[in-house]
This record gives sequence, C-alpha cells and structure tokens, in this order.
Amino acid sequence: MINREKEDNFLLFFLSKFKETSLLNKFLAFTKKISWKSLKTSGVLLLTLVLLGTGIFYLATTTPAVAIIVNGNNLGFAPNLNEAQTIIQDVLSKQGETVGRVAKTSDNIEYDKVRIKKEIYANNKVSPEVLFNSIKPYIEGVGINVNDKFVVVLGSQEEADSVLAKYIEHFTKPSEKNIVSSAEFKENISKISVQVNPNEVKTIDQAFEILLKGDVVESIYTVEPNDSFWLIARKNNMLTEDVIAGNPGFTENTIIQPGQKIKLVKVQPYLTVISKGTKIVNEVIPFDVVTKVDSKLAAGKSVVQQAGKDGEKIVTYNYVEENGKTITKEVVKEEIVVEPVKQIIAKGPNPAPVYVGTSRGSGSISGMIWPLSGPITSYYGYRWGGFHTGIDIDGVTGQPYVAAASGKVVFAGWNGGYGYSILIDHGNGVVTRYAHSSKLNVKAGQNVEKGQTIGLVGSTGRSTGSHLHFEVIINGSTVNPLNYL
Ligand SMILES: [Zn+2]
Repeated sequence: MINREKEDNFLLFFLSKFKETSLLNKFLAFTKKISWKSLKTSGVLLLTLVLLGTGIFYLATTTPAVAIIVNGNNLGFAPNLNEAQTIIQDVLSKQGETVGRVAKTSDNIEYDKVRIKKEIYANNKVSPEVLFNSIKPYIEGVGINVNDKFVVVLGSQEEADSVLAKYIEHFTKPSEKNIVSSAEFKENISKISVQVNPNEVKTIDQAFEILLKGDVVESIYTVEPNDSFWLIARKNNMLTEDVIAGNPGFTENTIIQPGQKIKLVKVQPYLTVISKGTKIVNEVIPFDVVTKVDSKLAAGKSVVQQAGKDGEKIVTYNYVEENGKTITKEVVKEEIVVEPVKQIIAKGPNPAPVYVGTSRGSGSISGMIWPLSGPITSYYGYRWGGFHTGIDIDGVTGQPYVAAASGKVVFAGWNGGYGYSILIDHGNGVVTRYAHSSKLNVKAGQNVEKGQTIGLVGSTGRSTGSHLHFEVIINGSTVNPLNYL
C-alpha cells in the first residue's frame, strides 16, 4: 500500500482560478485606464479583496477528502486518512471473519488526499460493500498434501497438526485399557504454506470430515478364473453392487471372463493410520454343549440336563490395526475371571449321525466361492492361544450364507462348540463346514449347488458373536480356506 499525499498549494490555485475567469486580465486592463499613482493603494486593496473573496468561496464550497484507490480505480472518498485506513482494515477483518483473522490483500491500495466539491464528496462516499467486493483477500494458511496431492487448507500449522492428531485419535481410541505404542500414517503427508481465499480455509472439524470421507479411488482389476462380482467384491473389501456400479453397462447378470479388465471404483479415506498397541478386554467364554445319549428318552427327543453358563476372561493382546481394523492380534495374557458351565443335553436314541470320515481323493476342488460376504475377523492357524481350524467371517444373525461349492450335505444339525452346523462333501476328499448358524436350510443327504443358500448366520455353540465359521477339510484335515477361495 502506498500512501501518496498531495500538497495543496493554495496560492497556485488562486492564480489558476484568476486565469480561468480572466479576472486578473480584466483587473489589469482596468488599472491601465486609470492613473496608477493615485489608485495604487486602492488597487492593491481591491486585489486583496478579490483574492480573499474567492478564497472564502472556495473554502465554503469544497472539502478535504481522501480518495481510496484500489488497483488504480477510485472507489470513493473517506473524510480523512485515518478513517480511510480504518475502513480498509474493517473490510479486511470482515473478509477474514470466517477464519477469525484479518485478511491480507495483494491489491494495490492507495490513499489520495484531495480537496473536492462538497457535492461530489457527498455523492461518492466510499461504501464498505463496494470495497468488500472489490478487494481480493487472502489468508496465509497451511495446506495438507497426501502423497503429493493437495487435500485441504487450515488456518495455521497448529490447526493442521490438530486435524492429524484428531484423525489418529479417532481410529486408535487410546484409553487405560488400550495402550497405543505407535501410530503413524501409511501415506506420505506434507504441510505447505499457501495463500488462499479465506473461504477455502477449513476448520479443524471440517478438515477432519474431508479427510475421513476420502476420495474416489479407481483401479483396474483383471478377472481371475472362477471370479464372480461377489468374489471380486470380497477380495477387494467392497460391496458387490459397488463393483457392478463402477462399470457402466454391467448388471449382476453380466458374464465376466478370466483375463478381462474391469474397473474398481471405491471411496476410501485419504489417510490410513497404522497403529500398534496393547488392549485389555473382557471377553465372554461361551459355554460348551455336551450331548449324551440317554436310552430312556424317546427317539429324537432331547432334554437339557444342565443349563450352560458363559464364563468371563480378561484377555491382554498386542495388535496391529489399520484405521481401527485389526490386521494382527496376538494374545499375551489370559486370565479367567468366571469359569463357564457346560450345557449338558440328554438325547434319545438314533441321534443325528455325526459325520466323521470324509471321502478320500485328490483333495482338489475348483471354483470354490466365499460362503458369506464380510470381513474376516479371525484367520486360520494359531490364534487366541489355540488352533483355529477355519476362518471367521463377520456377519449378522439371520444373514444367509451359501455353499462354497456344489456337493452333498453329509451333516446338518447341532454339533457341540460348532453349534448348528453343516458339512458338505464335495468329492475328491474335500469337505466344507459352516458353523454357529441360527438356522439350517438343508438336511443331511441333500445335494446342493454352489452359491445355494444353506443356512443363516448366528452365534450358536462356542461363539462370541454372530459370524460364520468356515472350514475346508481335505482328506480329514483342516486346511487354510484362503488357499481355496
Ligand atoms: Zn471360528
């Protein structure tokens, strides 16, 4: 901003006024006609009077003012320099109001001290609204870049740091029972100084929502043998309908071929927090169910001899999480607070045959599909201080699950810790098990097709929540189902 001040030269003004009106010329002509000697004194007096009169007239009809000139355009007059500067400061404050700061501008603002007719001044008083709309403001903010892509601007370095801290806290939720030992972003984050319009600056809460809501990420997927939209969705942690929607013209009946490239369009948060720590949680120990054959009971009849009661344990485990989702879990300590009580069921003779043997064969099966769409909450292998013989797929009670491949149902009923479960023999020595169901839709001896609904998700048997426990058994031994899906 340049403060240019113009000095008014009163005398010069008078002389120019005389020239314009040729008053001086008239006066000089007049002095030639009369005797100079005798009129010398009165002439000087007259000149003085004329000068004074014009001066008084000028002072009475004009006013001092300050023109506010923005980028060379006179936007109006303020009464004086102080007020002009105050008006500009007020405008910049108003422009930066949303950020709670005074905005800056790189526009060229000049203050021009002038003397103008009162009438002109009255009609051209500067308007704060005009200035507000004419001056281009900016705020010095801090932009957050994720993997070199600009995402959001905050008012300051501190606010940018607060947003990132809030994001980490949102996913890690540290507490007395969740000691977070480390938390870092998977993405490369940089914070850069930027000059932006105050409207573009976000509050901490707004920026947090933007980061969390994320952006559409598009990738190309090559269809593999035996893929279906549903299976592709499972592999990529998406919904089947979103896989289809990402490919215009596709419907659920569109046939896809191995090798075909399809688009995967998904919205994911801008940032991924990888956290490591130790959690202490109270867990329910589900009671075991033991069935005894009682020949005194009628065939097919069962009686609960002893009601089961869940136990309770305090489990300490180390974890790795990505945006709050468990990636690995390792139990370091288990303390039983309440021992569970077994449920004992007495059953009449001819109980449902328990499937023991499996057909022997090559152990090969092609085209096995996921029986349920959902995240895996527990993997095959040593987990939770024991050996987990299948995978747990998260689901809600009543959600249908399907046969992973076609085959013959060899068992459908209650089976101890498995609760209501199903065994399907697919031939070649391959059997699959589906456990903890709330309802079974098939009976032993029945043939089922791949993808056919065979039961509903539940939490029966030894289960801590609604999920499908899915096993693949080859020649009598469980194998990691993920190698077959
Ligand atoms: Zn399980």
